[in-house]
Amino acid sequence: MNLVFLGPPGAGKGTMATRLADDLGVPHISTGDIFRAAVANATELGKQVKAIMESGGLVPDELTIALVEERLKESDTAKGYILDGFPRTIPQAEALDGFASIDHAVRFVLEEAELIKRLSGRRVHKPSGRTYHVEFNPPKVAGKDDLTGEPLIQRPDDQEESIRNRLEVYEEQTAPLVSYYADKGTMVTVDAAPKPDDVYASLKTALGL
Ligand code: AMP
Repeated sequence: MNLVFLGPPGAGKGTMATRLADDLGVPHISTGDIFRAAVANATELGKQVKAIMESGGLVPDELTIALVEERLKESDTAKGYILDGFPRTIPQAEALDGFASIDHAVRFVLEEAELIKRLSGRRVHKPSGRTYHVEFNPPKVAGKDDLTGEPLIQRPDDQEESIRNRLEVYEEQTAPLVSYYADKGTMVTVDAAPKPDDVYASLKTALGL
């Protein structure tokens, strides 16, 4: 099954995509993760996108589309995949339709006050990608990863000003994708407000799994 996960930053797309990809045995393809890894490794791509990401803006369509098109050619996508954070603009969605066949877009819905709470409290163990939340999913020792004891960080784009910018960018550029996929009749909607296990159960039901 080829899936696109849609929804504002902070709705839990990444968490759900990781879990479902694991269960289905398909890759979880997050353009945000790919860009973050490029920044961490200071590659050419990383240098190009670092400042854009930190401000909460969008990486140019051309670059992002080419990256995903290449990624989908890899053999691990044969049984399906979950795209998380792509497409994020109408041109990206149109380009995707040119080189992929999407079975469902899954739309995660959450109100803005809750998104801000989730994003501003998020903490990450950078080497593993494990995420915590200072209030909703705190580590055993404040500021430290449960498994390694290493320090947790706050993503630069989870600082208040970037969060506001990301939510604005979402409304302007990404929210129109909801109608794009609704018009195709392939979209399912999941309420992202409940606890993770409950959101996951609704996601599976919505997809008939
Ligand atoms: P995410 O982890 O999905 O919140 O993505 C983090 C950041 O990576 C975004 O704020 C953008 O700067 C960049 N990014 C990720 N996916 C895309 C995309 N499809 N198009 C443009 N920029 C993206």
